[in-house]
Amino acid sequence: MAHRVLLVDPEGLAPIDDGLAVVFPGPASFTGEDVVELHLHGSPAVLERVFGVLSALGLRPAGPGEFTRRAFTNGKMDLTAAEGLADLIAADGEAQRAQALAQMGGAWSAVIADWQSRLLDALARLEAGIDFVDEDDVPDDVTDSVPEHLALIAREMERHLADGRRGEIIRDGLRVAIVGPPNVGKSTLLNALAGREAVIVSDVPGTTRDIVEVRLDLDGYVVVLADTAGQRQSDDPIEQEGVRRARVRAAESDLRIFVRDSASRVGLETEDLQRPGDILFHNKCDLGDAPENPPNDGVMVVAGSALTGQGLDALIGLLTARVRASAGAGSTLVTRVRHRESLAVAHGAVLRAAALRGAPDLAAEDVRHGLQALARIVGRFDVEQVLDRIFSSFCIGK
Ligand code: GDP
Repeated sequence: MAHRVLLVDPEGLAPIDDGLAVVFPGPASFTGEDVVELHLHGSPAVLERVFGVLSALGLRPAGPGEFTRRAFTNGKMDLTAAEGLADLIAADGEAQRAQALAQMGGAWSAVIADWQSRLLDALARLEAGIDFVDEDDVPDDVTDSVPEHLALIAREMERHLADGRRGEIIRDGLRVAIVGPPNVGKSTLLNALAGREAVIVSDVPGTTRDIVEVRLDLDGYVVVLADTAGQRQSDDPIEQEGVRRARVRAAESDLRIFVRDSASRVGLETEDLQRPGDILFHNKCDLGDAPENPPNDGVMVVAGSALTGQGLDALIGLLTARVRASAGAGSTLVTRVRHRESLAVAHGAVLRAAALRGAPDLAAEDVRHGLQALARIVGRFDVEQVLDRIFSSFCIGK
């Protein structure tokens, strides 16, 4: 309920502003605590006076992320939901926005909670098999079906790990490196694609010594274009370092655009970096025909000019098709390296546990590792949960 209020100074009751107060009683509020929101006339004078009065009452401004932190601490959201919120605030592509909203709404949490629940069940059975075999009310075959259940969970995890980094590509963008010898027009091409002067273009070879990045929004998907140092032999140690970084960057990227011009020779040091799906851009076609540089298998060729704009629509069309295909359709879960690493650890542990038929104590240890890794993703792990599950599913001790 919003209330129209006259804000007054508690000392002397002088009016400060005429505004709105919205009350969010806990625990239903965002943070879980009682919250009052003031809607004021936002001039510096009003704010200064209001902050002055509030700090005299012992209040202070919130730190970065403090509201979300409190929501997390108070159990209103888990870590993946908090990350989803951060991604939603920072979203600069439509696909990224939709993914962030789904994650904030608990898409990841729900899948992890399901795995946790089933792993806890497996763990409870393994522990019961180890510790309470002599009890009359624990059936002898309590652990029989555990390896099958674990193997099924491992397969489900595998499917999420083998998603071709879709979630990360939507969140962080498709990483594209522009590679080629000096002076073929790499920087000019980046600027033409970015539609602005992001890199200094010069006709002195070897000016792009570090890596310059530009983020593009192609049809709702984010593409991060990186201009790399020209690939050529050089005695200058700084330039050599630039070339080394460029090669590393190119190898790590999701896609490479190799730029050539009519003067480029075949066999320049970048051929070994070419992967199927990469693009070869024959630049400076306004000056004459491109050389016959046969690309490696599966590399697509576009001819054009970064200076006149010829061929750039075709290039952007290819890039857009590629990012759309890489980001894929449907929901994705792994949106951060952090998630992927923990999920890989969980997967390995569950896989090991599934193979340990006949060694329930070792299997239980691996399942516990798996649970811990999953708990790191959502930010919670509770030993009590295991005990609860053990004591609720069997009537040991009554
Ligand atoms: P980089 O070293 O590969 O990044 O090359 P630059 O982008 O700095 O370009 C080197 C020179 O080539 C500059 O003088 C550009 O103006 C020129 N250049 C780039 N693209 C074209 C093009 O398509 N046609 C013509 N005629 N010149 C170009």
